[in-house]
Amino acid sequence: MLEVKNFTKYYGDLKAVDDLSFELNQGEFVTLLGPSGCGKSTTLHAIAGLVEPSEGSIHLRGKDITNTPPSERNIGMAFQHSALFPHMTAEENIEYGLKMHGYNAADAKQRVQELLGLVQMPDHGDHRPGELSGGQKQRISLARAVAYEPDLLLLDEPLTGLDRVLREEMRREIKRIQEEVNVTTLYVTHDQEEALSLSDRVVVLKDGRKQQVGRPREIYETPVNPFVAEFVGKSTKFEGTVASNSPLVVRNGNREFYLNGNESLADGKQVVLYVRPEDIEIARSATNQKNEFRGHVGEITELGRFAEVLVELPEGTNVLVETERFPPIREGDDVYVSFDPSNVITL
Ligand code: ADP
Repeated sequence: MLEVKNFTKYYGDLKAVDDLSFELNQGEFVTLLGPSGCGKSTTLHAIAGLVEPSEGSIHLRGKDITNTPPSERNIGMAFQHSALFPHMTAEENIEYGLKMHGYNAADAKQRVQELLGLVQMPDHGDHRPGELSGGQKQRISLARAVAYEPDLLLLDEPLTGLDRVLREEMRREIKRIQEEVNVTTLYVTHDQEEALSLSDRVVVLKDGRKQQVGRPREIYETPVNPFVAEFVGKSTKFEGTVASNSPLVVRNGNREFYLNGNESLADGKQVVLYVRPEDIEIARSATNQKNEFRGHVGEITELGRFAEVLVELPEGTNVLVETERFPPIREGDDVYVSFDPSNVITL
């Protein structure tokens, strides 16, 4: 449906995007995820026709659109700051795009009412942007972006600048609207939680280069490199060298980590291990299982539905554990942390 092939963009000497290829299937929701400056917006703008590729090509519905003017690409867009025309009402903002795409006045009027219904703002058509909340402005932007049934919807950090509660509400709304109009969507964010919760697939970028493409679960459970492991989700990192292969054991000083290895690793190889906080247990006494370490409780952070506990091991490693809320432990307590060999990510 959308194919980005070997896209490279230089700004002067700066290589902002380096040989990036990916594709979107019809109806799919894909997110470009990466830290600020990794080339997400540049890629989105190239697809929209607002940035000219230095190398590579862009194909939409099988047609090479690399040199097609933006207005002829049939792509809808919504951005971080809603970019609504301030002097126009919500209705007029939506209508504007429709008329540009050849709707006659009567059809446009009817379509605007449908769209206001879609974004659950049927009574706000005559409000100007200045009279709307941040979330409402984003709803109108979305309505405007999907109004003329574009082949592709591009969303550039649309939730940035909204407070946390509103962000979560709008996240659900974006997903609902995207599914209802069934528009193929490319979303850009630096927020891994947004990416994981919204997307069918995620493309992780760093320094203009693609790191990994996969379903949210694949990215989270089987990151391909330390950057992805550390950027997506929280974890505790251990380092060590491979001490034996059957069973697979990684050693660091006199600490041993047991892993479930499908492939054998060279003895002496240096590896990095990651364990997700929800895969670690805390106990008051030892159960003598594999991967059980003694430490003492540091900071406890209550997060409502659960708590995060840092357990400091003697050599200084802080182990991050997700527990039930209000866990029956206190700072300074002696505890044991443990994790199953199958839950160790080895890179
Ligand atoms: P992201 O959207 O991931 O934050 P961008 O695509 O905006 O990243 O930027 C990628 C890199 O290109 C950054 O280093 C940024 O400073 C640079 N850049 C972006 N736009 C321009 C421009 N118009 N001129 C020069 N450099 C730019």
